[in-house]
Amino acid sequence: MNAVEAKGLHKTFGSIVAVDDLDLTVPEGSLFSLLGVNGAGKTTTIRMLTCLTKPDCGDALIFGHSILTEASQVQALVNTSPQETAVAPYLTVRENLELIAGVYGSHTVRADAEEMLRRMELENVAEQRAKTLSGGWQRRLSIAMAMVSHPKLLFLDEPTLGLDVFARRDLWRLIASLKGDTTVLLTTHYLEEAEALSDCVGVLKDGRLIACGTVDALLAQTNTQHLEDAFISLCGGGVLQ
Ligand code: ATP
Repeated sequence: MNAVEAKGLHKTFGSIVAVDDLDLTVPEGSLFSLLGVNGAGKTTTIRMLTCLTKPDCGDALIFGHSILTEASQVQALVNTSPQETAVAPYLTVRENLELIAGVYGSHTVRADAEEMLRRMELENVAEQRAKTLSGGWQRRLSIAMAMVSHPKLLFLDEPTLGLDVFARRDLWRLIASLKGDTTVLLTTHYLEEAEALSDCVGVLKDGRLIACGTVDALLAQTNTQHLEDAFISLCGGGVLQ
């Protein structure tokens, strides 16, 4: 089954076409990276797929459930780790996880938090207040909080934004380990991140999906060696002088 099957998704804001007749398929268990320059339509796409914004037309099925007519079923299957890290600063890492597990109505709050501490390798900072964590650890906690509800489809919006190279690589390893049980849809401006993690990459330009395929397929299509060059070629960027 496909995690996402979008057909003709379209969204305008006044005269701005944010997402233009988008068809998108994401197979279950895969990691899909949605790329695009600022304003290309990535966030609007994610907001529609998570039922936060209604499309003007088109529809998408999330594990077979329509975002238009089955929003509550869709929302039970998805979760998002947003761009801005949203943790309660004065609670410990463990308390943050227990709080979110409770919000999702879990009857096994402690066990759920414990599982996420282990899975996201947060045990050593479990009793530390979130505000004392470095950026990398805060992002890790933020992803753990999104995973507490055991989503079948996880949206990661620029998960390594602003992190140093070591923290970024560490997070890549953890994100890669989520694949399989969880389908991951990632947005990033770090092309080497998409190259390292993705089963499939989609490139949005002006709200249109202008390319979609494996990294190898995009490299072959553009006759390039690196995803960054392929992306620049596809998006029509200039050559650095
Ligand atoms: P970024 O990489 O900067 O986050 P993005 O690819 O996520 O960009 P979107 O945020 O989806 O792009 O924006 C797509 C277009 O729609 C942009 O031109 C943006 O200004 C516009 N837009 C998005 N949300 C709104 C809104 N609520 N009202 C008006 N215009 C909007």
